[in-house]
Amino acid sequence: MTNDADIAALDAADPLAGFRDAFSLPDNVIYLCGNSLGPPPRDAGDRLAQVTADQWGAHLVRGWTEDDWIGLPGRVGDKVARLVGAKPGEVAIADSTSVNLFKLLAAACDLRPGRATILSQADNFPTDLYIAQGLAGLSNGNRRLRTVPAGDIADAIDDDTAVVMLSHVDYRTGALFDMAALTAAAHEKGALVLWDVAHSAGALPVDLNGANADFAVGCGYKYLNGGPGAPAFLFVAERHQGAARSPLSGWMGHATPFDFGPDYKPADGITRFLCGTPVVLAVAALEAGIDVALAADPKALRAKSQALGDLFIERVEALCPADDLSLFSPRAATDRGSQICLTHPQGYAVMQALIERGVVGDFRAPDIMRFGLAPLYLRHADIDEAARILAEVLTTGAWDQPKYHDRAAVT
Ligand SMILES: *Cc1c(COP(=O)(O)O)cnc(C)c1O
Repeated sequence: MTNDADIAALDAADPLAGFRDAFSLPDNVIYLCGNSLGPPPRDAGDRLAQVTADQWGAHLVRGWTEDDWIGLPGRVGDKVARLVGAKPGEVAIADSTSVNLFKLLAAACDLRPGRATILSQADNFPTDLYIAQGLAGLSNGNRRLRTVPAGDIADAIDDDTAVVMLSHVDYRTGALFDMAALTAAAHEKGALVLWDVAHSAGALPVDLNGANADFAVGCGYKYLNGGPGAPAFLFVAERHQGAARSPLSGWMGHATPFDFGPDYKPADGITRFLCGTPVVLAVAALEAGIDVALAADPKALRAKSQALGDLFIERVEALCPADDLSLFSPRAATDRGSQICLTHPQGYAVMQALIERGVVGDFRAPDIMRFGLAPLYLRHADIDEAARILAEVLTTGAWDQPKYHDRAAVT
């Protein structure tokens, strides 16, 4: 079993230890919710202030050209490309994850005429399923969403499958899909694959081109630490960029938007997947988070994330009463993303008691407590302390107070 000295040694030897200083985190908080909203990079505020004063304030509307705001989605997209195994020109910053899902799912379906099915995992993140349902609703019955349990995806792909839409990491269990194997299985049946890397980009190495992925979307405010509501990103493999079309044919995706012509003509390359005007200030904050992530060695990131998860499981199982508490995430680190989930019938109240004690995770119905383990700013000692506090809350029954049972609007 890991003891205090081991934990201190692990932190002393941690090659990523220095990254903690790149973030501003409140004192006395162990932040295990970076899979929902990452903390601010220390220089995010300065960057916002700088863009406001030196670009917006100094150049006003000329900022679109003088500061190349117009090129921002592609320029910052190229940085994200380095994080997700894509080439320059394959990623753009745009819109929200939900909107990007809509655009790319529609584009992918159109590349497979004659096939009606969008296939997804039954417990996919709800917005992914809702977007597919919305798209199917616009198709005059020509498209449908079919969901199957995650483990049955490969077998469910058939010659009616247009697109397989999957989340790389399951938001409730933390289970990691084998991106390369499932993409190959889909391609073998003639289907395309759209990966949602919201819970993996920035937390573990993602290799979209290594897996031969077709399309992907990802989130800016989770492990990329881009700020609440940060813009999202989208990936379209170069081989699809000529034929694929966005159904949201806004002017920023036009070949020549400043000709102000009456008819839509898509731009070349990834630009055709833009819709409206880029959110310049929000991209400036997001870029601060992306720059921190780019400085980290992806192998070290993965190794630490796995070690933190293993340590948390070990400490929880050693210290917490086992009755009512179960591990909901895969036990093998290679099968997990960067979060550990535990179930408890009173998970909501237990989580509120933890939050009041400075251990901030979150809760997902019906009984799941999620602990996001962001390797850039967490220490092994934080994980150990979180397990101790959880043990204290469970052993004393401290969670069983009326104030911990009141459900907030956001859990
Ligand atoms: C967080 C997350 C989203 C978020 O979508 P928004 O449009 O930003 O609200 C979508 N899909 C997955 C899998 C997520 O984890």
